[in-house]
Amino acid sequence: MFIKPLAIPEHILCAQALDSRTPATHPSKETFSNRAANLLSGYKGEKSMKYHLQFLPADDFFILHYVRLPNQNGYFQLDFLILSRWFHLIIEVKNIYDNVNFDDLGQVYRTIDGSVQVFGNPIEQINMQYRRLLNWLRKHDFPPVPIEKIVVYSRDDTYLRNITNDKVISDIVMHRDKIISKINFFMNKYQSPSLSETRLTDLSWQLLEEHEPEEGDGMDQFNIGYTDLIKGVICPACVAVPMHWKSGKWNCLSCGCTSKTAHRPTLADYALLVGEYINNRQARDFLRVKSIHTAKRLIQQERFQQFGKTSGRRYKIDVDKLLNAKMYDEFAKVHTKSAKVHSKSDKVHN
Ligand SMILES: [Zn+2]
Repeated sequence: MFIKPLAIPEHILCAQALDSRTPATHPSKETFSNRAANLLSGYKGEKSMKYHLQFLPADDFFILHYVRLPNQNGYFQLDFLILSRWFHLIIEVKNIYDNVNFDDLGQVYRTIDGSVQVFGNPIEQINMQYRRLLNWLRKHDFPPVPIEKIVVYSRDDTYLRNITNDKVISDIVMHRDKIISKINFFMNKYQSPSLSETRLTDLSWQLLEEHEPEEGDGMDQFNIGYTDLIKGVICPACVAVPMHWKSGKWNCLSCGCTSKTAHRPTLADYALLVGEYINNRQARDFLRVKSIHTAKRLIQQERFQQFGKTSGRRYKIDVDKLLNAKMYDEFAKVHTKSAKVHSKSDKVHN
């Protein structure tokens, strides 16, 4: 069972918000777009694993998506960690299109149209994660449990080549449709439990408690200020901005689409980029609405925590509440589209 289910980590939401709210003319636009696209592609790869992992027996396997733990060298991060009483499994997910080659020098690369792109070696990467997890478990006095590790390529059409038929590579690297048979193999390999059920539960709690999500980069890191940001509600259908509030809903002048909830991702953008507290004046400016009453109604219907009275009232924007699991996908879609639109216009301007 998933004890830490899939959700887009906040630093990815931040990168996406920054990208979609940065005008095409900003000098860092391309950096923001590339970064947001890479992070989202990584998350999509991880998300595609859900289908396969849900076939694991729920009572025997505890699945954690995205675990980031502190250690003496800072932090280490695991895409998936699967815990059981018999063994633990670290999964590193790669979402790379076309082809990936592993050669005799430990180089990992893709060739497209004669040009070569070299990647970090995921086997070295997962070995490092293995050592760091092992140390973490020792430090927290958990009894030794065998730890297995695999690197999974999440796209079915990636052509993987193990050029020298290295057994280590063929044991560790695979496509995602091999995961379940690989886990079955580990289940046969480790038949006697190394952990009691209680210790397994303790371990799960401890991991959840020590997990520290990466913080999103605010605007300060990138030499971009509030006045540079694109304001207004983004149309969920065609990503035109701003939508106009009229007759109780958001109207898009470009495509005619209407929505009653399109302001939610915009409020989330505000929290991710500007700050988690918002007052009526700030909401009017960022949502591009003129009426104090409309802004008040829109914020109050979200039932955020409120602080202060009358004109000094501030609301604490709850990003998780705004972007529940279903909305996360919509949010990612809107932001990917809008990033594309902006980078297209980049080219036009150049
Ligand atoms: Zn539209």
